[in-house]
Amino acid sequence: MSEMVYDAVVIGGGPAGATAARALALAGRSVLLMERGGRIKPCGGAIPPRLLADFDIPQSLLVARARAARMVAPSGRAVDMPVGEIGYVGMVDREDFDEWLRERARHSGAERLTATFEKIARDDAPHPIVIFRRSRGAPLERVRARVVIGADGARSAVAKQCLPGAERVPCVFAYHEIIRSPQVSSDAFDGSRCDVFYQGRLSPDFYAWVFPHGETASIGVGSANKGFSLRGAIATMRADLGLDRCETLRREGAPIPLKPLKRWDNGADVIVAGDAAGIVAPASGEGIYYAMVGGQMVAEAAAAFLATGDARHLHQARKRFMQEHGTVFMVLGIMQYFWYSTDKRRERFVTMCDDKDVQELTWQAYMHKRLVRAKPMAHLKIFLKDTAHLLGLRAATR
Ligand SMILES: Cc1cc2nc3c(=O)[nH]c(=O)nc-3n(C[C@H](O)[C@H](O)[C@H](O)COP(=O)(O)OP(=O)(O)OC[C@H]3O[C@@H](n4cnc5c(N)ncnc54)[C@H](O)[C@@H]3O)c2cc1C
Repeated sequence: MSEMVYDAVVIGGGPAGATAARALALAGRSVLLMERGGRIKPCGGAIPPRLLADFDIPQSLLVARARAARMVAPSGRAVDMPVGEIGYVGMVDREDFDEWLRERARHSGAERLTATFEKIARDDAPHPIVIFRRSRGAPLERVRARVVIGADGARSAVAKQCLPGAERVPCVFAYHEIIRSPQVSSDAFDGSRCDVFYQGRLSPDFYAWVFPHGETASIGVGSANKGFSLRGAIATMRADLGLDRCETLRREGAPIPLKPLKRWDNGADVIVAGDAAGIVAPASGEGIYYAMVGGQMVAEAAAAFLATGDARHLHQARKRFMQEHGTVFMVLGIMQYFWYSTDKRRERFVTMCDDKDVQELTWQAYMHKRLVRAKPMAHLKIFLKDTAHLLGLRAATR
């Protein structure tokens, strides 16, 4: 009997993989979506409304909507940034969100398999073989695919095996605790506000957060500094905010890659998407939206490859993504490098956030995922203010 060859095997059923699997299934391709399962992805779960619109996600998946962000400086000074009429920050619980995406992929025609990817092998036949196990200790099994999509997250095993240099992607390590939210809102915790702490004592190079999720909340922190105690920082923050009395439901952490891989495909039949491709926005650590956009673009590139047999189509995914989001990633990368490096700069950064133009453009950029060009004068004003802050020409506090 001849061996079944899938058009695509997608490894990893997070936002990137589930999106890619669905898109290819809708394009009429045979798709196997392989997810190891058994673990909720550690994630703050903040998503922009554009994600819901672009990927047809029902509002019912949101567990909370934040209407403002509070930026807290090293001095403790807090600046509130109301979103205003243009939207909100949506909050999803990844356990339900990811499962919903995987089920939607299945309803669109993808086959689901709970299994752990082990490696890609090759023989004399033309297509790669994906080796996997259904559970720990179970025998190795194999399946053949015309194209393999690695959407297996940060430190992707697929990327490490198939793309040179993938193991060297710089990462921030993020850790969070899921707590039961306080029953009543207070100045320290508001169920409709995201709090972001720019304080060197909580993170020497990134930030710490409190994100409301309705019944629960995510209290987290990121840092690339290996010697820094993320757990210690969260304990400090919870004590400061009086959240140490709330029940802790989960403690978990994971790396966040902060640099897109130079190549997403092996020039033949393997391509990566989402965190596996390193596409999380620097400075904010936002990755869900970009994983889904990347997953869609990877699926479209894979579909073109499957239709023509020309592997050059695979390059298009990265090219298209960087054309659309490369500038924003670059600007955010510079921001992180500059503003998150000392408490003096963090203080100035939070002061900048007090500016109405900065707030409006920040929210526009977050909601719409592009640098808004509609207001050239506002940009000029911000550029001048920004430069003044950079040079220390404006007072750190006003
Ligand atoms: C603590 C923390 C907080 C964050 N907060 C936010 C936030 O608030 N907003 C935001 O937008 N982003 C946030 N991010 C980033 C965001 O979580 C990721 O960018 C996003 O999940 C990437 O999606 P993905 O599908 O590429 O990868 P993942 O979501 O990591 O999915 C990869 C999937 O592959 C599966 N897998 C891995 N290895 C194998 C294997 N060998 N075999 C089979 N399956 C496998 C995993 O089980 C997983 O389901 C946060 C990240 C962290 C760590």
